[in-house]
Amino acid sequence: MRVDLVHEFGFESAHFLPRAPEGHKCRRMHGHSFRVDVRVSGEVDPALGWLIDFADLRAAVEPIRERLDHRVLNEIEGLENPTSELLARWIWERLKPACPLLTAVTVRETCTNRCEYAAT
Ligand SMILES: [Zn+2]
Repeated sequence: MRVDLVHEFGFESAHFLPRAPEGHKCRRMHGHSFRVDVRVSGEVDPALGWLIDFADLRAAVEPIRERLDHRVLNEIEGLENPTSELLARWIWERLKPACPLLTAVTVRETCTNRCEYAAT
């Protein structure tokens, strides 16, 4: 039996997008209450009845959340141009080694816009 599990976490951060077109509002410093979904996928362990322990997933995410929360994202190495797209990949690259079943990272800057980065 194959399933997907999703753990959601959030953080508050400021950023600006230095490569947005001249005059674009996102070139100005502003903040978001970011929401992130991390999805893991695989076969349910027949003995345990679960894929992985949600607590293990939360523990894997926490050091990443800590690096992002209440920061200026542009000051973090690798996030000099912190679009949702590049932030999703940044999270993926840091989470995947600790979480091999990871299959998608979705970053939401607002309630209506999100970017999904998934395994190809
Ligand atoms: Zn923004």
